[in-house]
Amino acid sequence: MILTSVSVVGAGLAGATAARLLAERGISVTVFEAREYVAGNCRDARCPQTGVRVHLYGPHIFHTANEAVWQFVNRFARFIPYHHRVFTTARGQVWSLPVNLLTLSQFRGQAMSPAEARDWLATLVSDDPEPAQNLEARGLQLMGHELFDTFFRGYTEKQWGRPASSLPAAILNRLPFRFDFSDGYFSHPYQGMPADGYTQFIKTMLDHPHITVETGTTVTPEQGRQLSMHGHLFWTGPLDAWFSHDAGRLRYRTLDFTSEVVSADFQGCAVMNYADAAVPWTRITDHARLSPWEQHEETVIYREFSREAGPDDEPYYPVRMCDGEAILAQYEARARCEKRVTFIGRLGTCRYLDMDATVAQAMDAVQDFLSLRGQYS
Ligand code: UDP
Repeated sequence: MILTSVSVVGAGLAGATAARLLAERGISVTVFEAREYVAGNCRDARCPQTGVRVHLYGPHIFHTANEAVWQFVNRFARFIPYHHRVFTTARGQVWSLPVNLLTLSQFRGQAMSPAEARDWLATLVSDDPEPAQNLEARGLQLMGHELFDTFFRGYTEKQWGRPASSLPAAILNRLPFRFDFSDGYFSHPYQGMPADGYTQFIKTMLDHPHITVETGTTVTPEQGRQLSMHGHLFWTGPLDAWFSHDAGRLRYRTLDFTSEVVSADFQGCAVMNYADAAVPWTRITDHARLSPWEQHEETVIYREFSREAGPDDEPYYPVRMCDGEAILAQYEARARCEKRVTFIGRLGTCRYLDMDATVAQAMDAVQDFLSLRGQYS
């Protein structure tokens, strides 16, 4: 083996996964993290007042159908089975999500069998045979105007700050649409929460003799280039930041949270979405219910507000438009030419990745790197 030193920028899930896998192959890894702590946006911490574990950057639920990913993450935490359910408040009522037979029956005001629901829905949906080119068109194909407007249009436009017709259809494909009464938010066979929280999970992943973590250390693109010359660099920061935004800024949504300590009886579920456009927040998370095996008399709630990220805001969601974006395509093309740098993670690849997909992507990237590293000798 010739190459022995790799730098990773960012100690979130993507960076920690890459660092661990590289370290286990005998490579010395230094992880640079700009914040004072690790775990990126899946960081959690106990509220000192209530003892409730709070997901400081919004609710994170680990779910996957990927056997290798599930085995990997279980090496660093004991995952307690957790079945995520979400409800939505729309037009003064509470509804079951993802849209399922209960939602449909309630919406129609009439009990229906799965077959009756399918027949009814067939009268509502758009019969455009072409593959949907945007989120709105996909919604109309799937459920028709009324259901889409009630549950998706307002929420989507609050979440993304732009018309549903300008967003990719793939965003809607994240959510199942069901003709039975299953109301689990995710369909994946493996779902769980790390028993000691995500921060500890990431710390355990980074706890390896070949890994050094330097928190509170910002790596500029110039420094990153220098580091990469000594070996290789994995970059999990925003893709456009690597190029100093020289072709323009990519767009991200950021989140603001207002936090309150309230009675554990506050809302009766872990996450309540608010679908009406007139309600300014998108959802309220009751953190005690994200750890249902714990007993708390009070809980910490987060009201979540989405807005366009400015240069100094934390980017959470990369924005992709349905008709593609020239700037993004340009950065992606340039990223492919960077032979000593690998881009991973939600920000590094500008993709709306779930946690399991983030781990899978980092695993693949490390594998690619290991198989190519001979060329750096
Ligand atoms: N969505 C919606 N209404 C809802 C929930 C989701 O319109 O009640 C749409 C919205 O566009 C959102 C997308 O579906 O961005 C994906 O939802 P998900 O719950 O996966 O979002 P996340 O938890 O990642 O913010």
